[in-house]
Amino acid sequence: MQIVTTLAELATAREALAAPVGLVPTMGYLHKGHLSLVRRARDECATVAASIFVNPTQFGPSEDLSSYPRNLDGDLGAFEAAGVDLVWTPTPEVMYPPGFQTWVTVEEVTKRLEGERRPGHFRGVATVVAKLFNGVRPQRAYFGQKDAQQVVVIRQMARDLSYPIEIVVCPTVREADGLAMSSRNAYLSPQEREAATVLYRGLAAARAAFDAGECDAEKLRQIVADRVAGEPLARLDYVSCAHPDTLEELGRGSPTRFSGALLSLAAWVGNTRLIDNVVLEEERVRDPRP
Ligand code: AMP
Repeated sequence: MQIVTTLAELATAREALAAPVGLVPTMGYLHKGHLSLVRRARDECATVAASIFVNPTQFGPSEDLSSYPRNLDGDLGAFEAAGVDLVWTPTPEVMYPPGFQTWVTVEEVTKRLEGERRPGHFRGVATVVAKLFNGVRPQRAYFGQKDAQQVVVIRQMARDLSYPIEIVVCPTVREADGLAMSSRNAYLSPQEREAATVLYRGLAAARAAFDAGECDAEKLRQIVADRVAGEPLARLDYVSCAHPDTLEELGRGSPTRFSGALLSLAAWVGNTRLIDNVVLEEERVRDPRP
């Protein structure tokens, strides 16, 4: 496994890579969710490239950039064991040289959900992913459904900026009790870790209602909100039942039938903000207020 840091090292290494190249972008502190992306890329690509970069521009001023967990040696070992061929570990100076002033801004789909609560977050994400795409020039790039809006934003950016890259989305990997794996789970105390299962329990309760015939988006949102409200250590930030591509809330003047819905939430557990989502696949979610 080759490890590169500078753009010059990356360019030299890139020349020797067999196509198709699959890229797995990460912020490190790897868990089984990240490694599921590597496994998928390994199955589908001649070369697997991965990046580790805690991207400062996607963190807000009051967010957890300085405390974000890091474990570079462990991450490199895990990537090597998973069969990664090339790891790019740029420094902040490589990504954002002095005088940096060019940004990628995806407009509509960043206005809701995470984008609404985390101003500038997706500008940072889209910019760094564009730079990862430019440096590695992969044929495929692998992202997790865990970060559902990120997938929507990256797809939009790849289409709009004509990147010849297939965006591959991999299912959310969960702990045995349903909690979505996340590097931020490391922040949780044992009591908070227990309480954090309420995110998935809420989503699962709403999905069960959907499967049993509930097709009112507002009721599905309420089921999730009620569950989270029942957990004293958790505080709901938002719950959304939205069109999976436009992220428009169902029930707010949107079309009356959908081919699927994205049920997503963010919640604070103690001082840790967690997100999760499930996709409701059938054509039964209707707008109750057409
Ligand atoms: P991060 O290091 O948090 O930026 O995540 C890097 C990639 O791994 C992103 O595409 C995430 O969506 C994906 N990812 C993170 N957690 C999971 C998970 N539990 N299951 C699947 N993919 C994940």
